[in-house]
Amino acid sequence: MLEDKYGRRFHYLRLSITDVCNFSCDYCLPDGYACDTKRDFLSVEEIRVLVAGFAKLGTSKVRVTGGEPALRRDLAEIIGICAQTKGIEHVTMTTNGYKLESDIETWVAAGLSSINVSIDSLDPKMFAAITGHDKLDSILRGIDKALALGIDVKVNAVLLKQYNQFELTQFFNWIKYTPVSMRLIELMQTGDNLNFFHKNHVSGMPIKEQLIKDGWTQKIRSKTAGPAQEFFHPDYLGRFGLIMPYSKDFCASCNRLRISATGKLHLCLFAEQGLDIRPSLAEQSSDKLVAQLTQLLSDKEATHWLQDGYTGATTHLAMLGG
Ligand code: SAM
Ligand code: SF4
Repeated sequence: MLEDKYGRRFHYLRLSITDVCNFSCDYCLPDGYACDTKRDFLSVEEIRVLVAGFAKLGTSKVRVTGGEPALRRDLAEIIGICAQTKGIEHVTMTTNGYKLESDIETWVAAGLSSINVSIDSLDPKMFAAITGHDKLDSILRGIDKALALGIDVKVNAVLLKQYNQFELTQFFNWIKYTPVSMRLIELMQTGDNLNFFHKNHVSGMPIKEQLIKDGWTQKIRSKTAGPAQEFFHPDYLGRFGLIMPYSKDFCASCNRLRISATGKLHLCLFAEQGLDIRPSLAEQSSDKLVAQLTQLLSDKEATHWLQDGYTGATTHLAMLGG
């Protein structure tokens, strides 16, 4: 089992398969994707060796992310490889949802067991203002399809002072009758968004206090759970979660490692650098990778230093998938 010197175990791999994105979210890629690197993304064969290596070390959940993962034509094949790897019990994906309505059946048939869809506003005009795309209606229809197929749906919204801070009632009204798990994510500072961060960061703590006052109960985390604190309420079909990376002890429950689209291991979302594991993926077997991962994990730090304004090598989250 992959375990670091602080006793944290890594059951959960976030695998970026591209850093390209077709949206231009104001907090992430405000000017759209800039093609400034060689697009030499991991191949299907490399992904096979990678996931097998992680699975041998105890990883049971893989999240496919990006950039926008649905931009890769071989996405269904990648989902299938992850789902068929011995030891992997759960394959999920984070998407901006632009292909959800058309492709969700194919992804589920390939082995996808749940999905996170990013929706920062339920107001179509605000949604378009944030992302640059008037796609909210199609994304909501895609969510209905995913629910009808029986998979778990989580909805990510980044909490933004100047955009959606006063739209929370709309989200609560929606999840009263829609069985999705809503997640509000505190805006994180990255190398590129300092000004935007200062104008828009809002703490999730007052929302947590309000949830408790309103009769929401906090759920106990499972070993492969993501970073959200999750709440449920008997009057709501949906659940509500908060991701608060600036809160005390956020990193103590870290259970995930990240691989960039070009095959770099990131021990933390805000690590100083990615560690090159790609040569180990050229092997037929995953033995070399297993040895390398075990050795590299000894460098994982106790915490990120976001609260002190250090964002490491991360200029925006499209690089690594959040
Ligand atoms: N393109 C896909 C999407 O948007 O769902 C996957 C990649 S995106 C980087 C993953 C998640 O990170 C999204 O939910 C997005 O809203 C979130 N995100 C991006 N930049 C962020 C930031 N600076 N702070 C907090 N969350 C951020
Ligand atoms: Fe693209 Fe996702 Fe970043 Fe929005 S948050 S620009 S959809 S990578």
